Amino acid sequence: MRRYREFHRESIDRPEDFWRREAARIHWQTPFTEVLDRSNPPFARWFAGGRTNLCFNAVDRHLDTRAQQNALVYVSTETGIERRYTYADLHAEVNRMAAVMRSLGVQRGDRVLIYLPMIPEAVFAVLACARLGAIHSVVFGGFAAPSLAARIDDAKPTLLVSADAGARGGKVIDYTPLVDEAMARAEHAPPRVLLIDRQLAPERLNAPYLIDYEPLREQHYNAHVPCEWLESNEPSYVLYTSGTTGKPKGVQRDVGGYAVALAASMEYIFEGRAGDTMFTASDIGWVVGHSYIIYAPLLAGMTTVMYEGTPVRPDGGIWWRLVEQHRINLMFTAPTAIRVLKKQDPALLRSADLSSLRTLFLAGEPLDEPTAVWISDALGKPVVDNYWQTETGWPMLAIQRGVEALPQKVGSPGVPCYGYDLVLRNEHTGEPCAQGEKGVITLSYPLPPGCMQTVWGDDARFVKTYWESVPGQQVYSTFDWGVQDENGYVTILGRTDDVINVAGHRLGTREIEEAISSHAAVAEVAVVGVNDTVKGQAALAFVVLRDAGAAADPAAADKLAAALAATVDRQLGAIGRPARVHFVSMLPKTRSGKLLRRAIAALAEGRDPGDLPTIEDAAALQQIREAVEPTGKA
Ligand code: AMP
Repeated sequence: MRRYREFHRESIDRPEDFWRREAARIHWQTPFTEVLDRSNPPFARWFAGGRTNLCFNAVDRHLDTRAQQNALVYVSTETGIERRYTYADLHAEVNRMAAVMRSLGVQRGDRVLIYLPMIPEAVFAVLACARLGAIHSVVFGGFAAPSLAARIDDAKPTLLVSADAGARGGKVIDYTPLVDEAMARAEHAPPRVLLIDRQLAPERLNAPYLIDYEPLREQHYNAHVPCEWLESNEPSYVLYTSGTTGKPKGVQRDVGGYAVALAASMEYIFEGRAGDTMFTASDIGWVVGHSYIIYAPLLAGMTTVMYEGTPVRPDGGIWWRLVEQHRINLMFTAPTAIRVLKKQDPALLRSADLSSLRTLFLAGEPLDEPTAVWISDALGKPVVDNYWQTETGWPMLAIQRGVEALPQKVGSPGVPCYGYDLVLRNEHTGEPCAQGEKGVITLSYPLPPGCMQTVWGDDARFVKTYWESVPGQQVYSTFDWGVQDENGYVTILGRTDDVINVAGHRLGTREIEEAISSHAAVAEVAVVGVNDTVKGQAALAFVVLRDAGAAADPAAADKLAAALAATVDRQLGAIGRPARVHFVSMLPKTRSGKLLRRAIAALAEGRDPGDLPTIEDAAALQQIREAVEPTGKA
C-alpha cells in the first residue's frame, strides 16, 4: 500500500515525475515533449506537444478488449425506457453523431452547445465533439431561455443540439419553445439546431433552423469518422458556472491533462477498475456529470449508468433497485439526494441486494453529520465525501482510498488530494493560516492536470478572478472558507463570495437578483442563501418595491411573490427560484451603498449579524428580522 503523505508530497515536490508516470494511463498518438510548461504563470500547460483524443481514449481504445462489454446503461423512469450500449455500440453511435455533426459543418475548434435532457444522445454528442476536436458546451436542461441565450452569445457555437422535450417527476418540459426564444434573443445564434425527437412533446415546434437527427443518423449509419489528434492543451470543453457577477464564467478545460487526471482519479480516489459499473446520479449539465457520468468511467473501461428521473419515483427504492439489477459497484451523488432518501421507508433500502456496491461517493455541497451517519449505517459500506468544484474537474479533498484508507473525520471531506498544493490563507494578509484558524482555501501554482485552463475567451478574467483575490499572493482562490486540523483534514465552512449552493446546484445570488429585478414592480432586491434541512441551502429574496402599497395586504403580497418566482423561472430557470420572497421597504447597506449580504443572511438564519459600524440605517436590520419571523408581516 502506498502511504498518502509521501504520495502527496511527491506530487507537490516533483510534479513532473509524478504526472509523467500517470500520463502512461492514456494513449498518446504523439508523445509530449514537456510534462509541464510553466513559462506563463498562472497558466499551466500539461503534456505540451503531446497529441491525443478524449473520445479515442474513452471509446476506441477499449474495442480490442471489451467491445462486447456494456459501456453505457441508460435507465429512464420518466419514459420507462432502458437501453444498453456495448463499447462497440457506443463506438458506432458516436461515429454516426460525429458524421452528422460534420455534415452540418462542425470542425475542429468549433463550439457545439448541447442543451439536452438525460438521454444517451447527450453522451454521443459529447463524445462526437471530442472525436471531431470540437469544443462542447453542455448547458443544464433546467436553464431558461435567457440563460441559454447568454451562453450561446459567449460560446458562439456552430451548432446547437437539443431535444423536443425533457421530463422530470412525470412532467414533460417542452424544449423547443425555450430553444426558439433563446435563438431569437441571442446575437450569435447558430444557423442550425440538431433536434433529437423523443416524441415526448405534445406540440413540437417547427422552425426552419431545426433539423431532425434521426433521418441524418440513418444516412450516416455506417460512418466512420477518424479521431482528430489534438495537442494536449487544445480546449475540450467549456462549462459555464456561476460566480459573483451575473455573467456566468465559461470554465475551459484541456484534452490531455483532463484525460490523465480523470484516469488517475479513478484508481486513487474512486478505486474503480475496468469492468466495474458506476452509477453517478447527477446531470450531464454539471461538472460531476462531465467527469463521472461520461469521461472517467469510460476512460477506465467501466460501465456507466445514466439515469433520467428522480430518486423517489416510482418510489424511494428505485436507486437501490438499480444497484441490485445492474450490479453497481460505485455510486456517486450529492448529499441532498441522500437527505431526500432518508425520509423514505427504510425497508426500501434494506430489501435491495446491495452486495455489489463497494463505495458511495458524495460531493457538491457540505455533507452534514446526521446524513453521513445515517447512510453509512444503512449501507454498511464506506461513504466518501469529496470536495471540488467545476473549475477543478476532479476532487481536491477526499480520503483517497486507492492510495491509503485513512480514517474518516466526520464533517470533513478529508485531506488534500495528490496534485493539489492546498493552503488555507488569511483573507487579509494572504499568509498561511495556523492550525484551526479559519481561512480561504487556496491552491498554489501550478494547478494539477484536469483543472481549468482559463475562462473561455477571457484570460484576463481568469487571472483577475481566480489568481488575484488573495492579498499579496498569486494563488488560486477556491472562494471557499475552510479550517484545517493537525492531521491535514479540512472542513469546509461555506463560500467567501455570493455563491450559494441549493441541492448541490451552484447559483450566483447576483443572477437571481438580476432575474427578479427585471420585474417592473421591483426597485431593489437582495438574495441570500440560508440553511435548509433538505437542500443544504435555500435562496431567500428581500424585495423593495417601487410602489410599497403593491404588497400591502397578504393576498397581494402572495400574488406578487408568485409573479416574481415565475419571472425567475423564465429568466434563469426553476432551479434559481427563491424559496421565499419577503417585501421590505429598505435593505441594509453600508454608507457607500454596498449590500450587507452576510448580515442579511445571518439575520435570516436567526443569527447575530455582528458589529456593523458602516451601516447606513440600522432600521433596515429590524425589517429583515421581522420579515423572516413567522409572525412577521411578510
Ligand atoms: P460546483 O462548481 O457547482 O461543483 O460547486 C462547487 C462548490 O460546491 C464548492 O466551491 C463548494 O462551495 C461546494 N462543495 C462542493 N463539494 C463540497 C463538499 N464535499 N463539501 C462542502 N462543500 C462542497
